[in-house]
Amino acid sequence: MKSQVSRREFVKQGFKATAAVAVGTTMNHAASFYSISFSQVALPYSYAALEPAIDAQTMEIHYSRHHAAYVKNVNEAIATEQIAAAGEADFFANVSRWSPKARNNGGGAWNHNFFWQVMAPPGAGGQPVGKIADALRGAFGGYDTFKEQFTQAALTRFGSGWAWLVVDRGALKIGSTPNQDNPLMDVSDLKGTPLLALDVWEHAYYLKYQNKRNEYVANWWSLVNWNEVAKRLP
Ligand code: MN
Repeated sequence: MKSQVSRREFVKQGFKATAAVAVGTTMNHAASFYSISFSQVALPYSYAALEPAIDAQTMEIHYSRHHAAYVKNVNEAIATEQIAAAGEADFFANVSRWSPKARNNGGGAWNHNFFWQVMAPPGAGGQPVGKIADALRGAFGGYDTFKEQFTQAALTRFGSGWAWLVVDRGALKIGSTPNQDNPLMDVSDLKGTPLLALDVWEHAYYLKYQNKRNEYVANWWSLVNWNEVAKRLP
């Protein structure tokens, strides 16, 4: 573990791409390009902090093996394919140009960084209040209806994927994506700025819940960090 200060700084910076301008080494090489790399944000809580909804062993495997592998593999793909992007948004907006390895692992790297940050230990978030509560009421009629529709999106995503709440040109929308796709990708049917995400891959719940995705989703609501969700509302 790093010190608290550097961990906090890392979390704060976690979403921003490490974009660096590399200038040609010879004088007549005027072109510059942007390289990008992904990194894994520090977990803002301990592996056990999300119990009982998500058990410590699931969190440890999910973060230190699954997520770490996505980050390692996307960076490998970026290097091999010499992918140039001005930042994460640009990387995903052009993802149809990259390999499946870059798309799947880039999505995996980004989606999990997002997922860890919109959760908090049970009771920390409670129910949405203020502008996010107003926005949910405006779009869905109320928190309960929103919760029901988001739950449906999570339960009806066949196989592996994610459920999302996004804002698209001012409108809140619920949807889901397959595999590690996300709403920032040019290939995604669901588009917008993510506000909330739920991982419904079996690796996210199978140890504790086995095939009962519905129980995992029902218990997950106690972990939603509404302050973090509200921060992402434009
Ligand atoms: Mn996952």
